[in-house]
Amino acid sequence: MTGGDRQVFNNRTINKNAAPLNGDRARIQGEDTRKVKAPDFAYERPESLDQVFDLLERHGDEARILAGGQSLLATLNMRLSSPGLLVDIGRVPGLAGVARAGQTIRIGAMTRHCDLAAAPPVQAHLPLLARAVPHIAHPAIRNRGTIGGSVALADPAAELPACCLAMGATMVLASRGGERRVAAADFFQGLFRTVLEPHELLAAIEVPVPPAGSVAGFDELARRHGDYAIVGLAAQGVPAGAGWQGLALAFFGADDRPVLATAAAAVLAEGGGIAAAQAALDRDLDPPGDLNGDPATKRHLARVLLGRVVGAMAEGR
Ligand SMILES: Cc1cc2nc3c(=O)[nH]c(=O)nc-3n(C[C@H](O)[C@H](O)[C@H](O)COP(=O)(O)OP(=O)(O)OC[C@H]3O[C@@H](n4cnc5c(N)ncnc54)[C@H](O)[C@@H]3O)c2cc1C
Repeated sequence: MTGGDRQVFNNRTINKNAAPLNGDRARIQGEDTRKVKAPDFAYERPESLDQVFDLLERHGDEARILAGGQSLLATLNMRLSSPGLLVDIGRVPGLAGVARAGQTIRIGAMTRHCDLAAAPPVQAHLPLLARAVPHIAHPAIRNRGTIGGSVALADPAAELPACCLAMGATMVLASRGGERRVAAADFFQGLFRTVLEPHELLAAIEVPVPPAGSVAGFDELARRHGDYAIVGLAAQGVPAGAGWQGLALAFFGADDRPVLATAAAAVLAEGGGIAAAQAALDRDLDPPGDLNGDPATKRHLARVLLGRVVGAMAEGR
């Protein structure tokens, strides 16, 4: 517990000196707030990683990290989740920012979407991220939402997890015992599931600087700009003659997690045409139907995206 930052919301006592989570004046004045949408939860705002680890160890699965709150608070308000404690990491130093060290670009988990796209190392070396960010929701959400929140949430239709996969990123998971690193390909385990343990925090994402000549491609099909994608594709590779080196095609919205289309990429790497790669995509993707379309529709949309994205990359667009 972090002294004055301790608050218990809804029909319990609060510390009037502490800032409220969402500026709700009724809560500050201690009124009966049982009418609010979210279930009861306690709130802590630690100021160091050690305090975060204390809270996570003490509260286990009852605790949830609060980053930008753009997904978590919505799930609380819809009562889709009811954690006992929110651990707001907004004041923990060292978790935000983008910096290059040698051949690696380290992106702090608390880097907001709006800052990510504008960060000089991203502009200089990671055009895939710069292209993807404008597709995430709307400016108000991008001003608060963080890359760590997006990656930890592991929504299969989200842009940034697929970008991490295409870029060969490594997730840095921190806990009292130190850090462990997990490749993006092993990090996502299924629908909203990752390898993160309850006592761990996603501290950063490390991305290798792409090789010289690398090009990026990104597109998605959504009902409206800013909606979650029906199907999307994040891609990166180096043109080599008629083929490609290190081509990665990461589809999102096409399974319960982002998926690397390795068969289609292998066809393209060897100089096969787009039609052959589109045919090979059937070996890579087995999309479940959802409210956005049945499996056949999603397969069709994935083939369309493959043609558009790889076509543009080949033309240097
Ligand atoms: C209307 C709307 C439209 C949206 N559209 C899109 C979209 O098109 N594409 C898209 O990708 N996203 C979309 N989002 C989600 C948005 O991008 C969120 O910002 C993002 O998914 C979560 O980031 P956050 O920082 O807000 O995380 P939070 O909401 O604070 O947290 C999300 C989850 O991640 C966990 N978490 C957060 N940070 C960490 C960490 N460092 N370590 C461990 N666990 C952590 C939390 O405990 C929680 O379970 C949309 C949201 C809204 C409200």
